[in-house]
Amino acid sequence: MSETIPVHLLPATPTAGKARKTPAQTGEPIHTRSFTGRFRNWRLAVAGSLAVLFFGTSWLNMEGRQAVLWDLGERKFHVFNATFWPQDLTLLSALLIISAFALFAVTVYAGRIWCGYACPQSTWTWAFMWAEKVTEGDRLQRIKLDKAPWSFNKLAKRTAKHGLWLAMSLATGIAFIGYFVPVRELTADILTGQWFTASAFWVFFIGLFTYGNAGWLREKVCVHMCPYARFQAVMYDKDTLAVSYNPTRGENRGSRKKEEDYQAKGLGDCVDCYLCVQVCPTGIDIRDGLQIDCIGCAACIDACDSVMDKMDYPRGLISYASERTLAGEAAPRFRPRLLGYVTAVILMCGALAFTVYDRELTAVNVIKDRTLYRKNSEGHIVNVYRLKLMNKTHEAAHYHIALRQPDDGGLQLQRQYRITLASGEIVDLPVSVVQQNGSLYQGAIPFTFVVQNNADGKALAEGSSTFVFPTR
Ligand code: SF4
Ligand code: SF4
Repeated sequence: MSETIPVHLLPATPTAGKARKTPAQTGEPIHTRSFTGRFRNWRLAVAGSLAVLFFGTSWLNMEGRQAVLWDLGERKFHVFNATFWPQDLTLLSALLIISAFALFAVTVYAGRIWCGYACPQSTWTWAFMWAEKVTEGDRLQRIKLDKAPWSFNKLAKRTAKHGLWLAMSLATGIAFIGYFVPVRELTADILTGQWFTASAFWVFFIGLFTYGNAGWLREKVCVHMCPYARFQAVMYDKDTLAVSYNPTRGENRGSRKKEEDYQAKGLGDCVDCYLCVQVCPTGIDIRDGLQIDCIGCAACIDACDSVMDKMDYPRGLISYASERTLAGEAAPRFRPRLLGYVTAVILMCGALAFTVYDRELTAVNVIKDRTLYRKNSEGHIVNVYRLKLMNKTHEAAHYHIALRQPDDGGLQLQRQYRITLASGEIVDLPVSVVQQNGSLYQGAIPFTFVVQNNADGKALAEGSSTFVFPTR
């Protein structure tokens, strides 16, 4: 019986057939070959939906304004019918923490599946590769074009490719900045040549960034620049699904005729066709084992499955497999680490949803005046406060101020305080409170300012403070 080799201990060189260097090893440009398959369809569906969301969401309007807009000038962030303010930035921090935990959970379960299917760098790289194919042809034609001397044909193809890349980059720049500046005005400005504005600068900056990353740097970003690529390796355990070649089944690799009894010749299922390397966007050979360059896109699975189909061998020589299942062991029913991450994500999502639902749309902050107290002309003690009031709704609101105090507190507002605030407006409202009746309290009375809706008296926000007396 052949010995089972853990995937991370796979030999770096083939055990049969002529060893070939991969583009990742030689540093040659990577020209991927076209392929089809179920994982490619999944990637198209996931990445395509995310791209549609990215390009489309900023064009949605609601209540006469852009539905999703981070309005930096007005310092408010609209997400459909909710408006968030700088004071709500803790919610954004919470969202980032949840996203990080969700990424940990996904990584523990299925390795770099995020990189292969949803990461913008991969998505745009696949889109740029598609543009390359449309303008310069498939893999062999592109390799030939690379080697050919400059001619009108080569110049025309290269111009078309870079033109398409630049158009895609510009569209990306407009879509991205369109979440910070109203996208309709921005697009009109760019298309009418108003390029010397701050918004246009950022559109071109993001466009150039996209062109460089997806057009030129591509896999180098994933391999050398992305921090996730560095730390994800430590999150793998023996049950993490990773794109893996099964050496027990595949080796010894080597070419053969379809009808041949290859096992009698000591060969495994790998026909050494090199297709898995030719489709790989990072130019590696998955048969060399788990590598940091692998973005888990499963292109090699699709390519290899098509070869297995042609040879009438079972699919899955390359597959999503864990180190444990590859070693022939059963996968555990429970994975405490994964369960912990998933539970944490669910709990945090619930807490965040409740916080967003329950957040106050009127904010009040009470600051006591530095002068502890004074006496008015009638000899009553007066305390002065500053109420920092904010209207976080997206329309004007009318408020009045009331007090809640102990039954025998005897506190009264010096006058009626009614105020109207525009959407997002913040005011500092000085408020005087008088103690009319003399107090049973010694030193201080705790009480609460209640901000009420002017129309129906509904309490919208509260802020606590104390009323201070002279010591006797
Ligand atoms: S080895 Fe396979 S899964 Fe990994 S990047 Fe290459 S094609 Fe994608
Ligand atoms: S595609 Fe499959 S059969 Fe062909 S070289 Fe790769 S692993 Fe072997």
